[in-house]
Amino acid sequence: MFKAVVGLQFGDEGKGKFVDFMATNHDYIARYNGGANAGHTVNVNGKQASFSQIPATLENNKMLFVCQDALISLEKLSDELEFIKVTCKNSKVYIDPRCHIVLPIHVELNRASEDYKGKKKIGSVGVGVGACFEDKSNRLGIRLIDATNKETLKEKLKLLWDIRAKQISNVFNGKLTLDFESECNSIYQLAKGIEPYFSFTNDEIHKLLSNNKDILLETSQATFLDNSFGTYPYTVAYHTLVQSCFTSIGVPAHEMYVLGVMKAYTIRVGNGPLPTEFNDEKANRIRTVGNEFGTVSKRPRRIGWLDLVLVKHALKLTGTTEIAITNIDVLSELKEIPVCVGYTLDGEDVCANKALIMLDKVEPVYKVFSSWPTLNKKYESIDLLPKEAIDYLSFIEHELGVRIKYVSYGKDREQTIEVSSYINQFHVENGLSSTDYLITRT
Ligand code: GDP
Ligand code: MG
Repeated sequence: MFKAVVGLQFGDEGKGKFVDFMATNHDYIARYNGGANAGHTVNVNGKQASFSQIPATLENNKMLFVCQDALISLEKLSDELEFIKVTCKNSKVYIDPRCHIVLPIHVELNRASEDYKGKKKIGSVGVGVGACFEDKSNRLGIRLIDATNKETLKEKLKLLWDIRAKQISNVFNGKLTLDFESECNSIYQLAKGIEPYFSFTNDEIHKLLSNNKDILLETSQATFLDNSFGTYPYTVAYHTLVQSCFTSIGVPAHEMYVLGVMKAYTIRVGNGPLPTEFNDEKANRIRTVGNEFGTVSKRPRRIGWLDLVLVKHALKLTGTTEIAITNIDVLSELKEIPVCVGYTLDGEDVCANKALIMLDKVEPVYKVFSSWPTLNKKYESIDLLPKEAIDYLSFIEHELGVRIKYVSYGKDREQTIEVSSYINQFHVENGLSSTDYLITRT
């Protein structure tokens, strides 16, 4: 069956860490959406790596799939293939030849379109993924397979180039700085380097599923960047909800396990509403301690308190089975930690669906928790955490009604607690709480 690692907020929740964590007991790992606009960081015993094309893991001896609907930046992919060759010598990479290529002209289009939009820009990371996806939908796109034949590439690229170059200069008042012939050559050369990895990944994955194998799925971006259910138009150009994996990979829908990853607070890169955002010395502390700067863009991430209205909605949208919560170390020593548990508008409660279409107008309703001392030890189990941290986690689990399976208190793979039962059950049984948070849902 598929076992997916998904983001329950606005991205950068720590999916990379959990793909790598889960990779220790999964042999087959697939990525099927997004492109170099998504960066996933992995830390194992002081060794760090970031991936934006190949599934994120430093584990060796894996079958790594890049499926249809993943968007390819050729140089990035070539670099990551080289990295895998050196670092994970026994892993094998399979790349679907039907994946679309994010071309340098898409990067220029992205820049020109954002400049044109001025204050209304999306604040995208600028790697051209949105423009590439438009060309895929418009039937103008270049697939990996197209780029391995010089004549085909030239013919297809000519049409795309004619249309898009005019758009850059005549619509966006920009200037295309690229040369068609040299771009054609470089795309061809890079695609030839990737050709040996070509494989019809739908067939490979179909075979594995037929043999009852588990396939770990890495998803790009996160729930609220979905271009239907996210904070449209401040989203990516495609679906990010995990159920799109079936069409993207090309296998029939089936029941799956979904690990929803959430940060203990909220972050966002780029523009768009963030109701719990704050900008004071606490935000600066969180940004510094949590190293909240984009993996791809290096931009400072925007900081907000945990928004349980959105996370709860994300659980429903994605069908999350269990939760991994990250960065609880970052909230230490803050004295008070507000958590958003509802929204109002003109004094009336607002549901998540409605709030999402007017997120810049709603007022968050907070519950406030006490912070905890610095987490500077190895914590083998949940009961070793400070009481305040257990209170916080227990409340979150109770409010969400879905079990927290993993608690991450640092970026390293080792800094992860696997929780053996419901946190709030443990909490109540041990008389640690004055509240009666006890989940009845199983
Ligand atoms: P992704 O896009 O969801 O894969 O997340 P990123 O890898 O882009 O960003 C998450 C960042 O948080 C990375 O730099 C991780 O190394 C880091 N990280 C993950 N879990 C933790 C944690 O529990 N504590 C801290 N301090 N950092 C973490
Ligand atoms: Mg990321």
